[in-house]
This record gives sequence, structure tokens and C-alpha cells, in this order.
Amino acid sequence: MAATTDADVAIVGAGPVGSALAIMLGRAGKRTILLDRARFPRDKACGEGLMPAGARVLEQLGIGLETLPALAGVTYRVPTAGSVQGRFAGGVGRGVRRLAFDEELANAAALTPNVEAVFGCKAIGVEHSTVGVRVETTGGAIAARFLVGADGYRSQVAGWMGWRRPSQPPYRYALVGHFDAPGHRFDRIVVTLLDGCEVYLAPTGPAELLVALLGSKEGLRRESEQVGEAYTRRAAEAHPELAGCGHTAIQGAGPFWTRPSKIAEGRVFLVGDAAGFLDPLTGDGITAGLLAASHLGTLLREEQPRAADAYRSWDGRRWRRRVLMGRLALTLSGSSGWARRAIRGLAKHPAALDRLLEVNEGTRSPFSLTPRDWAALAGV
Ligand SMILES: Cc1cc2nc3c(=O)[nH]c(=O)nc-3n(C[C@H](O)[C@H](O)[C@H](O)COP(=O)(O)OP(=O)(O)OC[C@H]3O[C@@H](n4cnc5c(N)ncnc54)[C@H](O)[C@@H]3O)c2cc1C
Repeated sequence: MAATTDADVAIVGAGPVGSALAIMLGRAGKRTILLDRARFPRDKACGEGLMPAGARVLEQLGIGLETLPALAGVTYRVPTAGSVQGRFAGGVGRGVRRLAFDEELANAAALTPNVEAVFGCKAIGVEHSTVGVRVETTGGAIAARFLVGADGYRSQVAGWMGWRRPSQPPYRYALVGHFDAPGHRFDRIVVTLLDGCEVYLAPTGPAELLVALLGSKEGLRRESEQVGEAYTRRAAEAHPELAGCGHTAIQGAGPFWTRPSKIAEGRVFLVGDAAGFLDPLTGDGITAGLLAASHLGTLLREEQPRAADAYRSWDGRRWRRRVLMGRLALTLSGSSGWARRAIRGLAKHPAALDRLLEVNEGTRSPFSLTPRDWAALAGV
């Protein structure tokens, strides 16, 4: 371990979560090194829906989001059973095209005082002790007082710490692309529950719609079918208005649902997807990561003793809520009977869905839901 340090905090991964954390720490006067193996712009398979709570974190950092498509809420549809519209009660969400959004955040981090951003540089190993960490990278070694792994759901930092665990069944995957849709009228996320898969749509520009398919391998594609054919067929099944529209190359992702055995110890912390990744159907990953970055940023800024314990305990409560919402979403999407009942019940009591969306983004406790809200979800 080097006797002198290059930084107070080294962050591996300059996705939205690592970049936001670097901005927070740099502004607080912490010498921060932000590494990413990629050079920006780089794309990332995602549903690209940022919830209002996540948008607020970025607005508080002075990141302007007003040019991004505003999202008023989420509509859930079951063909033949109808649809129900949930409203974001606490502000607007945003459609964030990751190719541009991640680049903007990474550049904002690179321009922050006290932040040294190194892109195109991969972390390849970590040593840690009670006094500091040493990160081996393709550009040389970095010594820092703290290390944050913000390196996504296949986190290598988690692997080097011995904390990584495999995905849990049911194994689900995504196919993601963008449709040309000049003049589209979408101002919200639309989730369509089809037999065997879900189709998640979000506006990402005035002439562009993201469409992500989520499901098991068998649900997404027939045996005889090419991936591109399956994607176009399923997207048009949910949105016939997109039949004939061109789309970009398709990206794949999955399997999901993974949680490391530990997210912090001593001087090493995981944040964002590196600290656990649930099913993307809930669309809360970036928001959850940004909220965690805010919390971790405060702990590291104040150099609280036992910061790792404090972070684990805060995150444990939050993780249990996210697991609850993830399981609820999978239960409803996996059973057409439950989904139909929920659509019927929530249509009669739409405020319940607004509240569920708040629980999902972390601004409301699940314990504040009333028996009437749960009854609506059960179709009563
Ligand atoms: C299909 C799908 C749909 C989704 N839909 C939504 C949605 O609608 N809304 C939402 O909020 N979230 C959604 N998510 C989740 C969202 O994509 C993630 O929660 C978010 O990207 C997490 O950000 P992050 O910064 O933690 O990690 P990432 O965005 O994954 O960034 C990690 C960074 O680490 C870098 N890195 C990795 N390893 C190394 C290394 N060894 N050295 C240096 N750099 C490294 C990578 O290059 C990358 O830039 C979805 C995810 C999927 C897969």
C-alpha cells in the first residue's frame, strides 16, 4: 500500500450513479478519482425512465433536465382487460436517452473541482487495508483512502471483495431498442403486459421512443425466430402504431435479480447496480442509485466513523422495500388473472396506483398504504 494517497475517494464506474457521487464529493472538497473503462458517449441497455425522486437529486446538483421529455406517470395495460393510469404525484419524471444522459453526467463530473476523471481506463484489481485502498488499473495504480464500486450489476469490485453472488431465478432478460416515431404523443411510461413478456415504452425524444421487452428467454422469442424478428413482433403486438417504424440495433441484458453478500466494509463501498439489481420492470434503478449516492456522499463527506455499518443499515431498509415492489410487479405481470383484477381494482381507485408509484421510487413507505389501496390492487 502506498504511503501517500492520490485521492480521498476512488470511484470505479462513471455511470449516472458514480458520476453523481463524484460531483457531490468533489464539491465537498474531497479529492476524487472517477474511473470508467468506457469513453463517453457509450450506450447502456435501459428503460430510460427516470422517476421524479431521481430527477430531484440531479436538479439539486444543478444538472438541467428541462430539455428531456417529461414523464407524467406510468400506464399499465393488459390487452383485452383495459388499462390504468398512475400519476407521479411529486413532480415529473424524465425520459433519459442513456447515450447522451450518461455522457452529460460524466462530463459534468469531469468538470467538477477536485474531481479527476479518467475514461478509457479499466480497474483490474483491488487491495484494501484498514488505512486505504489500492486500485490496479490499465493506466497504473491508484491509492485512495476510500473505494466506491459503482461499476454496474456485474460489479468487478464486488467480485474482488468476494461479495458477488449469481442472479436468482426466475431468469429474466431484456431486449432494448429505439423506434423512430416523429410526432409521437407519449408523455408517460407505458407498460403492456403480454402473454409471456412485458413491453415497456418510454419517450426519449420528440421523435424517438424506447421500447424494452422483458421476459424469460422463451417468452421473448420463439425457437425459430431471430432476435430482431421477435423484438419487432412483440413491440408491434403491444403497439400496433409502431409497425413499420424503423428501429435501432437491439441490445440485450440479463439475467437480473442479484444482490452481493455485502455492500460495504471498512473502506470499500458499493453503490447503484453494483449494490444489487432487481427486475427492471419497476424502472427505479437509476433513481434508487442516485438516492443511495446522496446518502453515501454524506457519509463519506463527513468521514463518519463506522460509515460502512451506517450505510449497510440504511440500504437494508431500502432494499427490503425494493424487493417488495419487485416481487409485486413480477407477481402481477406473471399472472394474467391477477393483472386483470389489479387493472379493474385500480381503475376504480386510481389514487392507490399513484401511491404505489411513490413507494416504488422511495418517497413513501409501504406501511402508509391503506387497506383500501391493497384491496384495489387485489381487484376488490
Ligand atoms: C433492460 C433494463 C431496463 C431498465 N430500465 C430502467 C428504467 O426505466 N429506469 C431506471 O431508473 N433504471 C432502469 N434500469 C436500471 C438502470 O439501467 C440501472 O439502475 C443504472 O444504469 C445504474 O447505474 P449505475 O451508475 O449504477 O451503473 P451503470 O450505468 O451500469 O454504469 C456502470 C459503469 O461502470 C463502468 N465499469 C464497469 N466495470 C468497470 C471497470 N472494471 N473499470 C472501470 N469502469 C467499469 C461501466 O463502463 C459503466 O459505465 C434498467 C436496466 C435494464 C437492464
